[in-house]
Amino acid sequence: MHDVVIAGGGPVGLFLAGELALAGCSVLVLERDDELSSPWKALPLGLRGLNAGSAETFYRRGLLEAVIGASRADAAKVGAAPGAVEAPAPRDVSHFAGMGLDAAVIDVHSLPFRLPSPAMEGFMTSLEALGTVLAERAAAVGVQVVRGAAVTSVAQDDECVVVAAGGQEYRARWLVGCDGGRSAVRRLAGFDFVGTEPLFTGYVAQVEFADPDPAKLPFGFNLTANGMYLRTPFEGHLGMMDFDGGAFDRSRPLTREHLQEVLRRITGTDVTLNGVHRASSFTDRAMQVPDYRRGRVLLAGDAAHIHSPLGGQGLNLGIGDAVNLGWKLAATVHGTAPENLLDTYTGERHPIGASVLDWSRAQVATMKPGPNAPALRRLVHDLMSTPSGTTHAYRKTAGLFNQYDLGNEHPLIGCTSPDFRFQDGTALGELLRQGQGVVLDFSGDHALQSAGNSWKGRIQYVSGSARDDLGLTALLIRPDGVVAWASEHTPDPVTFRRAAVCWFGSPES
Ligand SMILES: Cc1cc2nc3c(=O)[nH]c(=O)nc-3n(C[C@H](O)[C@H](O)[C@H](O)COP(=O)(O)OP(=O)(O)OC[C@H]3O[C@@H](n4cnc5c(N)ncnc54)[C@H](O)[C@@H]3O)c2cc1C
Repeated sequence: MHDVVIAGGGPVGLFLAGELALAGCSVLVLERDDELSSPWKALPLGLRGLNAGSAETFYRRGLLEAVIGASRADAAKVGAAPGAVEAPAPRDVSHFAGMGLDAAVIDVHSLPFRLPSPAMEGFMTSLEALGTVLAERAAAVGVQVVRGAAVTSVAQDDECVVVAAGGQEYRARWLVGCDGGRSAVRRLAGFDFVGTEPLFTGYVAQVEFADPDPAKLPFGFNLTANGMYLRTPFEGHLGMMDFDGGAFDRSRPLTREHLQEVLRRITGTDVTLNGVHRASSFTDRAMQVPDYRRGRVLLAGDAAHIHSPLGGQGLNLGIGDAVNLGWKLAATVHGTAPENLLDTYTGERHPIGASVLDWSRAQVATMKPGPNAPALRRLVHDLMSTPSGTTHAYRKTAGLFNQYDLGNEHPLIGCTSPDFRFQDGTALGELLRQGQGVVLDFSGDHALQSAGNSWKGRIQYVSGSARDDLGLTALLIRPDGVVAWASEHTPDPVTFRRAAVCWFGSPES
């Protein structure tokens, strides 16, 4: 019997598998597809934007350089210009509802507690590049992956979960469904899925234009009276939004004629498609499970929430789920978790997911064509272009400014920690690589040494003076990089211990 079976070896499943195995769990991934590689994951169709929050998560597990390297290599394979996966910093507010936002007007002074780190910005990747790095990492920490194994049944009792996939039965203490937006685990385990129905059918395609002249079909997001189309710098890569109430999506075969008709209607031109290499449709249905756990079954990533890809948030949200869940589930498996630790997963991640769903709904509502649409768009554009509007958009999308509600003793508690660096150059991001908690004691008199060393294997105690301590004397950082406790005065071992017990359970001594 495995500690954890994960259904779905997409980016969220693979990253979560690596987190759990790093923490000493035995992990089996059951993946429907036979191969990791697919034209849908390679560029251009597999193009995905990772925000600074995801970059920071990968940095904290020593994966950032590998992901950037693989992303650059993938871009080079399709002849993209050098730097195609990067963009000038800070790039995270590239658009809202297709309206470009100028990152230069972000009010950086209103963003407290930041320190320079190798993960200040997001970047572009492909599902294939990311998947390859995450699969290698998972293998390196002992994760077993079975491909060609679609999960078809799930049964659970008080002791374990039994999963059928690919004609075999597997037993585990826990099952996590990371099997995407049409999650079989979500359905089979009886999760509710609630939200709003679609306003549009979206299309993503790799096509051949008869006349690729950008004068006719400009690059970037193009909002028109009838919808939106997006042309990326990757040859023939096309996105469209057609406000048909989601009627077309998967109702009929997606033909060249249909795509051309939609493109002509949206662009108001006589543009011709000579061919369509690949195309698929999606909608802006925005749905979420109210509780990410049912007994011994949990959900993460698209299995737990779906929404339109506008603004590129789904993958980032899923990576955030995985880094939040991994250490909590591992501690539960090992029997060291405080009571209810696992339920803080829903408590912390559901509101973040709900906020992303709302962000995507607001964009769709702003883009919806109609007689009043241009007036609304102008208003939203004017507001979003102000320093406070752009800063708000940056806060919402960068993935660095979420705050879990963990109490209000200090404004940093519940936020991702700044990347504190000791005088010898060691940074917090490096200390988090093993997936343990970290106590940073800058107090000079090692005030927390005895308390900080009481959770061996769960919390690492590190003391010294920081290059910039931001006025703090000590912090307790969770394995996901979130600040659990912070002090600006002589650190008090009693309040520190209370916070440590709350997140890491009883100490050894
Ligand atoms: C056009 C488009 C552009 C996007 N752009 C961005 C972007 O720029 N930034 C961003 O953050 N997000 C973006 N997204 C969203 C992002 O792609 C998803 O949120 C992300 O891929 C979700 O990852 P996941 O691992 O949860 O699910 P998936 O990537 O869907 O992976 C699920 C895995 O489960 C497997 N599976 C399915 N069913 C079963 C089963 N029954 N048993 C076993 N395995 C199963 C699948 O084969 C797959 O490997 C975009 C989405 C689209 C459609």
